[in-house]
Amino acid sequence: MPDHVKISFAKLPAALEGIVVLLAAEPAEGETPVFAPAVEALLAPSGTLVASAAQADRFTGKSGKALDILSPSGLDASRLVVIGVGKVPALKSFDWLKLGGAIMGRLPASAKEVSVVLALPGGEVPADAAAELALGLRLRAYSFDRYKTRKKADEATAKPKVTLYIENDAAAKRAWKKREGIGEGVAMARDLVNEPANVLTPTEFARRAGDLSKVGVDVEVLGEKDLKKLGMGALLGVGQGSDQESRVVVMRWNGGKSEEAPVAFVGKGVVFDTGGISIKQAAGMEDMKGDMAGAACVVGLMHALASRKAKVNAVGLIGLVENMPDGKAQRPGDIVTSMSGQTIEIINTDAEGRLVLGDVLWYAKERFKPQFMVDLATLTGAIIVALGTEHAGLFSNNDTLAERLADSGLTTGEKVWRLPLSAEYDKLIDSKFADMKNTGGRFGGSITAAQFIQRFVGDVPWAHLDIAGTGMSSPASEFNRSWGSGWGVRLLDDLVARHYES
Ligand code: MN
Ligand code: ZN
Repeated sequence: MPDHVKISFAKLPAALEGIVVLLAAEPAEGETPVFAPAVEALLAPSGTLVASAAQADRFTGKSGKALDILSPSGLDASRLVVIGVGKVPALKSFDWLKLGGAIMGRLPASAKEVSVVLALPGGEVPADAAAELALGLRLRAYSFDRYKTRKKADEATAKPKVTLYIENDAAAKRAWKKREGIGEGVAMARDLVNEPANVLTPTEFARRAGDLSKVGVDVEVLGEKDLKKLGMGALLGVGQGSDQESRVVVMRWNGGKSEEAPVAFVGKGVVFDTGGISIKQAAGMEDMKGDMAGAACVVGLMHALASRKAKVNAVGLIGLVENMPDGKAQRPGDIVTSMSGQTIEIINTDAEGRLVLGDVLWYAKERFKPQFMVDLATLTGAIIVALGTEHAGLFSNNDTLAERLADSGLTTGEKVWRLPLSAEYDKLIDSKFADMKNTGGRFGGSITAAQFIQRFVGDVPWAHLDIAGTGMSSPASEFNRSWGSGWGVRLLDDLVARHYES
């Protein structure tokens, strides 16, 4: 697991060496940035240096702006980086995360020892805010470089030690302990998404999920024999054109009361999607190594829940297959029988994710009788056309669950937007030859995909997140420079923390 930054907390000493990062707010009036009294004291030996530099650079403490001063005279620091946070601010949790990312982004590549002073005018920085900022540092520092053989030599310089100075360092340390596992979970999910499919086969994916046993998650791997016995004909049909065996992994974290029904998370894990016999065009096909971002998120989430010892019973299930065309591959027109007993006519072998999810959701429902099920899948290109990369598509049969997800989306910045489900849309996937077909035509493609999945969830409160636009290849942000974003770990951890822990 990458750990590209070492974070610790301490009380602010009288003087600081090395690279020193300070926060400045915008004044209510005028142009001079405002500092906390503790920062003013720290800067006192440098006289008017910062004020004149700010004036010369027209730095007023505006959010997103920064001031960089090399070898500031009068101070022991080698460099001062002053980060603007805007008008004396009521920064929300997500703002602190972004601020952490922005700070990491301002550090020179050679940074080894960095001091960040968490003090703002107008009151103490809360411990949770400090922890969220630390998470932002950690997420921005992530890089996937294991295949860059020439970068390895200067790896040491890519691992700065960052000390966060804060009044209540003990409380901040405790808060970070709870969030650190979330950072690891996101990094884990990013790693899985970034890995190429020649390395990350279904078997290897299952093996890596097995590492969760180190944090107390019970991991069970079902092989093709087990899946055949269970009758998962829909899932197995997708994988049958590949030399790689399909797998389903069941991860259980029992942190709640023993009699309490679990919450369930289900991920699409198509380790590579060629489209099968309905083969995709060549341009951009390499991105299809990320067609397992839903499953990656579930693994990262289970890690996060277990490492912070969440008081909840949670199960994570991932369906791992490779969709390849060969002599054994399934064809358009084939009819498969799912575990639920419902039959499916395959119209397009590239609409494979829903086939995997149908069987795994049905299995989750039958075996665990969960309080709710949330599935995540890089399911349709249509969702990118509709929502771009800002929101994931949300579909649900339950308003409470949908509202909670939308809420957690706003808190964490992993936003979701609800789209409709209805009997009229559902009709579009009725088949001439079987109970249903696996595509509903050109229009409303994300909706008909969700309608398909809904046929496998019964009455269980359920939400489907279409993350094709957010899970991979999403635009860079303050706290993410990785192709695989690890999207959904923070969203679902927040959902659990706020509503489902006893
Ligand atoms: Mn596909
Ligand atoms: Zn796919």
